[in-house]
Amino acid sequence: MESLWRKQTPKLISKSSTDHSVPENTHRDIIVIGAGMAGLLIAYYLKEKGKNVLVLEADEIASGQTERTTAKITSQHDLKYREMIETMGTKKARLYAQANEAAIREYERLIQSQGIECQFKKVPAYLYTMQDEKVLRDEAEAARSLGIDAFFTKETELPFEVTGAVCFRNQAQFSPLEFLKHISQELEIWERTKVIEIKGNQVITNDMVMTADKIVVATHYPLRNVPGFYFLRQHQERSYVLALSGCNNIEGMYIGIDKNGLSFRQAGEYLLFGGSSHRTGENKNGGAYSYLAEMSKRYYPDSKEEMRWSAQDCMPHDGIPFIGKYSILTPNLYVATGFQKWGMTSSMVAAMILRDELCGAENPYSELFRPQRINLRAGIGKFLADVVESVKGLTKGLFHKNGPRCPHMGCELVWNPDEESWDCPCHGSRFEKDGKLVDNPSKRCIENK
Ligand SMILES: Cc1cc2nc3c(=O)[nH]c(=O)nc-3n(C[C@H](O)[C@H](O)[C@H](O)COP(=O)(O)OP(=O)(O)OC[C@H]3O[C@@H](n4cnc5c(N)ncnc54)[C@H](O)[C@@H]3O)c2cc1C
Repeated sequence: MESLWRKQTPKLISKSSTDHSVPENTHRDIIVIGAGMAGLLIAYYLKEKGKNVLVLEADEIASGQTERTTAKITSQHDLKYREMIETMGTKKARLYAQANEAAIREYERLIQSQGIECQFKKVPAYLYTMQDEKVLRDEAEAARSLGIDAFFTKETELPFEVTGAVCFRNQAQFSPLEFLKHISQELEIWERTKVIEIKGNQVITNDMVMTADKIVVATHYPLRNVPGFYFLRQHQERSYVLALSGCNNIEGMYIGIDKNGLSFRQAGEYLLFGGSSHRTGENKNGGAYSYLAEMSKRYYPDSKEEMRWSAQDCMPHDGIPFIGKYSILTPNLYVATGFQKWGMTSSMVAAMILRDELCGAENPYSELFRPQRINLRAGIGKFLADVVESVKGLTKGLFHKNGPRCPHMGCELVWNPDEESWDCPCHGSRFEKDGKLVDNPSKRCIENK
């Protein structure tokens, strides 16, 4: 289902996205795989540094999760900082806060200096609860101790009473595709060019082999299982969005921390009203959209649903994206993934880190986001929970051979009635009713469908 952003910006065209069937030069300094928010920002900053960069995109520019985001640009990544301080220490938590605050400022600088018209607006971001307020009082204090301009409040613009909220000042929102339309213009991007394999410095598609000094995998879910083992280190979660008309305009961006919490942000005349999150592959009874429709009628009785869509993102066990070298065995291969539904700032953080790493400069945030880090205390519980889910899915795939199985690793697929898709509960691949691949990590369609 088409998102508001795609409706507003139907086609993003780059200068060289057209004819590339017989490339004269098959070598580039850097090849970036994937033209979503991450891949495009990474390519943009590397090109700015004088690198000869090519972006390869399997489908169209920004046709992945990026066109279905709600595009809040914020360092407020759900309940984060109190827990991070407790499990990883103040130093890492402060670096995480600083990296994401720096990403907001960089968006602002870039958009203003380039005069990019993309509905960029500085707004506050809020977490809210209708339960015990203490957790948000603690979060406000933790965020403040790390240098974020945060405070606890009971005042919000929401159409219901909250027991408490934490506000981060100086956050932002924008229209992601209007922004990317500008960013992509001067980049060399080849659409409908799916990478099927990477071998050393070779990037292999169905009809050609390109080479590069460095390769960046920005395909949302990394396209190689081994090395890297990202399939063991993150799972995917799906969430749903309605665009409503006829609601009172709100200034801030909101997200609820309680079970079934809702997300709110204004986008022009529409209110983006989101929620119904679940692990991909765990929505066999459906009801994600109808829950949102019911809540929208409860809180905004005069509203009208104008659009609906959903998306998913990769959730790393320790709550930090993976940005840097793909593995210790692949010195020229890099990755940016694990954005945990906060891919606007995370993509910018990835672009800043990889620009520096690939140009031989130091970056203060590299170590925190390094994919080979180990944060045992923060990640072990979620790692074990994920292993259990994967084993369950694989076992069902082995014994229930009648249902469709995921080509990625053989897990049993689960029908998602809300999206009419076959979804994999292990790693989050998705397929249309007829078996056509929608979301990776699977590289193939379901056979015999
Ligand atoms: C409902 C929802 C709301 C969200 N709201 C927010 C928000 O408010 N703020 C925020 O910060 N984040 C938000 N996010 C997260 C954010 O949208 C994502 O993290 C971000 O869009 C991911 O960008 P990406 O470039 O990594 O992936 P994508 O946009 O998916 O881009 C990856 C690209 O790689 C291409 N590709 C894949 N495989 C290959 C291949 N083999 N060869 C070539 N190309 C390939 C795909 O076609 C795709 O275009 C939200 C997520 C969800 C689920």
